[in-house]
Amino acid sequence: MAKKTNDKMDRLVSLCKRRGYIFPSSEIYGGLNSCWDYGPLGAELKRNIKTSWWEAMTARRDDVEGLDAAILMHPKVWETSGHVEGFNDPMVDCKVCKARFKADDLPEGTVKCPKCGNESLTEPRQFNLMFKTFVGPVEDTGAVVYLRPETAQGIYVNYLNVKNSSRQKIPFGIAQIGKAFRNEITPGNFIFRTREFEQMEMQYFIHPSEDEKWFEYWKDQRWSWYMELGIKPEKLRWHEHGPDDLAHYAKKAYDIEYEFPFGWKELEGVHNRTDFDLSRHQEATGKDLGYKDERFDEKFVPYIIETSAGCDRTLLTVLIDAYDEDDSRGDKPTVLRLSPKVAPIKAAIFPLVKKDGMPEIAERVYQDLKKRFKVFFDAGGSVGRRYARMDEAGTPYCITIDGQSTEDDTVTVRERDSMEQTRHKIAELGDLIASRIG
Ligand code: ATP
Repeated sequence: MAKKTNDKMDRLVSLCKRRGYIFPSSEIYGGLNSCWDYGPLGAELKRNIKTSWWEAMTARRDDVEGLDAAILMHPKVWETSGHVEGFNDPMVDCKVCKARFKADDLPEGTVKCPKCGNESLTEPRQFNLMFKTFVGPVEDTGAVVYLRPETAQGIYVNYLNVKNSSRQKIPFGIAQIGKAFRNEITPGNFIFRTREFEQMEMQYFIHPSEDEKWFEYWKDQRWSWYMELGIKPEKLRWHEHGPDDLAHYAKKAYDIEYEFPFGWKELEGVHNRTDFDLSRHQEATGKDLGYKDERFDEKFVPYIIETSAGCDRTLLTVLIDAYDEDDSRGDKPTVLRLSPKVAPIKAAIFPLVKKDGMPEIAERVYQDLKKRFKVFFDAGGSVGRRYARMDEAGTPYCITIDGQSTEDDTVTVRERDSMEQTRHKIAELGDLIASRIG
């Protein structure tokens, strides 16, 4: 059983490379451990996921503003946030084979190296996950800065700027998508855990008395978003952090978990961070981050409800959830049943044969649809093979121009999942696709 599930992961990784979703980074130099590059389809899928998140979390709302903060921040931010002191994972090294493990991943009392079998493990040592770099030409400690390990701090330090410039009143939120970096000890499982990744985070500033209400509200919103992406609900669940795994700053925390081929794992966290973050920044900078308006008797430091999702991890989830092998499709059974909303290519256009006026009509349909959607033109090989290539790429619709098209301006639209074909007027294709991708 275990072999089968691992094979599925291998087959997905190979599909990603073959179809241009994800490539190993710097591959012609032999790759760089745990770094991946998004190819033409991957970049498009990622952009669609980010757009969907951005629309749900800020563009379609009145109460959440967007932000795009710099990756490099004042180094004191990370002292205040606790990352310099506390963003550590205890790790254990093998003195013989040099393998490195998270102490938490090894059963208590392990003495033998799980890789080489020697009794050569070091005591657990703290390992800070932040990447350091230097600003300016001199590599001294005065110039040390960090690559941000989370996007949230960029939001906290801009809380006043955003509130004052947007004239938002509490409750309101700030949303941001951006890169984060963690020198993870045990990256792996393809793009599940990498050292460079993108986060999609939203921090919602509220009155402390309303924390329960907003916590439940954002839990609902976030679950709904995964439904909008078309993720199978039976593959998702909530996991509540108990006293042992609740972060010191959090009053309550739930993770949305997905059942990956390698087990149930966190996809996103929803956290009640209380007034921890703003109070710490207020203390460190002397800036007044308290809030008061006519609705409240007393000034207060806002509580924060955070929703923190990984973009790459969502993309992996979307791919795994969509990956299917349908044996009824003959020797090319692989189908990526991506939701049309996020699919990189919305429709492929095929002339049945390269003659009798069909390529010209196909070209016209292609040029017309290209103005509204990402579409693909393919005249190579049998129609069956062209369908199979598009099924594997996750394209929801294939439009074929055949002999009848030259007579009555209709085409067939073949739906990826059901393989059903229906006939439609060329003039109606744009609206038909638009209505299906939502
Ligand atoms: P984990 O327990 O998996 O290390 P975390 O609890 O440290 O995650 P958070 O700090 O809450 O994660 O980050 C929020 C989200 O960012 C995670 O739910 C995940 O989707 C994403 N994320 C965190 N670390 C990584 C990573 N190394 N690679 C890819 N995505 C990540």
